[in-house]
Amino acid sequence: DAKRIRDIRRQTKTLVTIGACATAGGIQALRNWSDHEEFIASVYAHPEYIETLSTSTPIADHVAVDFELRGCPIDRHQLLEVLAALIADRSPRTPRHSVCIECKRRGTVCLVVTQGLPCLGPVTQAGCGAICPVYDRPCYGCFGPAAQANCPALSTHHLAGKTTETQMIHALRNMNAAANVFQIESDRLESEST
Ligand code: SF4
Ligand code: SF4
Repeated sequence: DAKRIRDIRRQTKTLVTIGACATAGGIQALRNWSDHEEFIASVYAHPEYIETLSTSTPIADHVAVDFELRGCPIDRHQLLEVLAALIADRSPRTPRHSVCIECKRRGTVCLVVTQGLPCLGPVTQAGCGAICPVYDRPCYGCFGPAAQANCPALSTHHLAGKTTETQMIHALRNMNAAANVFQIESDRLESEST
């Protein structure tokens, strides 16, 4: 795939990565912190038939990317906006602000303020309509980092409450575990806790 994407880049005027796997290595990037041979042996009856890489990385780590469309899954309206923008030769107008803005627009009661839950909404890019907090579930960052996401500040806030370092690391290591600022912060927390 690394060779294919370089070939594609050479032949392509505009390269857009779509979804968490392409923009941040996806859920399978959890292998970056583990022994992938052990993972394979736990999952497959015949691990000898499985050929896979030991790490999962964003496409932008390998070639220049013109636009990253985030989300797991992506939002179809954002996809249409990106396509329309490319056809019109303008920059896509997708949100760069955090899920918290959408959450407040919906009038949802904040899970951090009322329950002290480790919500990643303040550092996660908008696009989902803040679905999870509506169902009393903290955001786990499936749209990846928002612009200027301050993960250390959010960790400090959550850790001052009832959130443990392990819970905070798990919150950051999900669909976008290898997204730059999420990865840096989860590694920092892990190194401080060992
Ligand atoms: S519940 Fe989460 S997303 Fe909603 S306002 Fe609070 S921190 Fe932000
Ligand atoms: S995890 Fe966060 S970004 Fe993803 S759907 Fe839930 S609230 Fe939205």
